[in-house]
Amino acid sequence: MPLKKRVLILGSGFSGLTAAHRLAEHVPDKVDVIVISESDLVYDNTIFPALLTDEVNIQNTYFDASKRLPPKGIKFLKSKVLDILPQSNEVKTDRGVFDYDYLIIALGGAYDENFEKIKGHENAFMHHPLEGFLGIKNMVEKEDELVALVGNAKNSPIEGPSYQVALILEYLGRKLGKKFTVYLATQSPKGMFGILPVDWIPNQVNSYAEKRGIKLIKGAYVQEISGHKVLLSNGLEVEADLISVLPTLSAPTVVKNAGLTDDSGFISVEHPTFRSTLYKNVFGVGDAAKGMIPAKTGRAAMISAENAAATIIKEVSGKSLPYYVQGVICMMHSGDYAGMLVFDSNKYVKKIDFKWGNVYKYLKKLYSAMLISSSFSTPYHMALEYYK
Ligand SMILES: Cc1cc2nc3c(=O)[nH]c(=O)nc-3n(C[C@H](O)[C@H](O)[C@H](O)COP(=O)(O)OP(=O)(O)OC[C@H]3O[C@@H](n4cnc5c(N)ncnc54)[C@H](O)[C@@H]3O)c2cc1C
Repeated sequence: MPLKKRVLILGSGFSGLTAAHRLAEHVPDKVDVIVISESDLVYDNTIFPALLTDEVNIQNTYFDASKRLPPKGIKFLKSKVLDILPQSNEVKTDRGVFDYDYLIIALGGAYDENFEKIKGHENAFMHHPLEGFLGIKNMVEKEDELVALVGNAKNSPIEGPSYQVALILEYLGRKLGKKFTVYLATQSPKGMFGILPVDWIPNQVNSYAEKRGIKLIKGAYVQEISGHKVLLSNGLEVEADLISVLPTLSAPTVVKNAGLTDDSGFISVEHPTFRSTLYKNVFGVGDAAKGMIPAKTGRAAMISAENAAATIIKEVSGKSLPYYVQGVICMMHSGDYAGMLVFDSNKYVKKIDFKWGNVYKYLKKLYSAMLISSSFSTPYHMALEYYK
């Protein structure tokens, strides 16, 4: 009986666990799958905006990977990755050194590291981790009157959460009878979803937000914060009691130190396989890797992991699975209604749509419940197939 290949997966977020499940499902006799992650509690952060409206509670937002993965044939090790050594096929952690035949790097984007680079960040929340959302919630409950500014740092590749936080703050002020003034800064001069190659979606969403009383500041990013004052890139200064910002992203320093990133700051990979351009047995997936689209989303992260897993499955067993293109599905909670944005394109098809409705609020909750109950193993990502 030939020895199994060892696949080491670093990170237990959307991408790491998608790859782990797919490998354990398709080639359990060919590979040993080991997931290494610093935390055994895995959160679905895409549902965090709903914590602000009390539609979900914290207990519904996470699962314990150390309990869920072993019954599926996936080993889990709670440990911090300290060094990645691709020349010797080794990874150094705070619980020892591990070698591998294949390495999948799924360590996410360097949110904390990059947030700390924003001057004056101590005066702001970051609406990415649980603590950021709990901090915002606490202020909403305490204050009867407040001015909020929500925005992104320069080149931040994910703005959807900012739209949600701004809209939900306006909704909560209205619902609780409080006087909330909400500013939302968008990087694109076209406003919300301005990155899309059509005008009707930004126009529609901007006018919806403005009708709700959101003060849109288009074409501006957060440059620095000084006390309650936010300096924006267009020279505007806004005084706000509640400031919340998402930073720009890159791969974490531990990945950069391994020499796996390029000038973009992300892991340099081939598409559609997400194989490192430098090492044949190394794959970079999710927020840490250079994607097919600029936006860093959970769906794109899962699709990159499907493609990396398909490549390894083919190599160890000869079995062919389809490759997909990365796209965006953003289910955007706004307090009253939710919206669903879909953007996908391959050689033959371009799908682009945006719909508002109450139903998407329930779909968002349902999808999150499915992600959590399956430990991030969803069978279908509604993605288009990749064609050369
Ligand atoms: C509020 C919010 C709403 C969002 N909404 C949407 C949405 O509607 N749709 C959508 O598609 N996307 C959404 N996203 C984006 C989505 O959450 C990310 O794109 C996704 O989490 C990226 O997955 P990943 O696997 O690359 O990284 P992550 O999910 O961040 O996982 C990284 C993993 O690596 C581990 N790790 C990191 N460093 C180390 C280390 N040194 N040692 C060991 N382990 C380490 C972490 O603990 C974690 O397990 C949203 C994000 C936020 C914040």
